[in-house]
Amino acid sequence: MAAQDQALQTKYYATKMLNTETDSECILCQNFDETIDHIISACPILAREQRIKRHNRMCAQLHFNICKETAVQFDKKHWYEHVPKSVEINQGGKVTTLWNQQVHTDRTIPNNKPDIIIRDNEKGTCMLIDVAISGDRNVIKKKPRRF
Ligand SMILES: [Zn+2]
Repeated sequence: MAAQDQALQTKYYATKMLNTETDSECILCQNFDETIDHIISACPILAREQRIKRHNRMCAQLHFNICKETAVQFDKKHWYEHVPKSVEINQGGKVTTLWNQQVHTDRTIPNNKPDIIIRDNEKGTCMLIDVAISGDRNVIKKKPRRF
């Protein structure tokens, strides 16, 4: 409850609420206020590994559901057992699902390795999916983009 109410003893809380400290910066990264949100999901030092792990598990679940919807056959029954393969082709070869594959383009595009690419082999179209799992404060920075 205290964490949910932002009432745990953080440097931000001590500075802004209790007035017992003068510096509210995170002791590890020293770039942002040390809030509960920052400690749990935003600190570039503290949350780096967990953030990547959470992102990859979310993408694996999404990949599992896409494969299931497009009739890809695999042996795992549950998403949490699913380990995505680089290329999955559904029964009949109409849909190809790519995992973490670089996109070759005629111009330089930074970060051109979307998490999932769904290719409709009949129409010759692709849907690129890049997942961002951000904290509430950073949602506005991660708006969907069109290329
Ligand atoms: Zn930090």
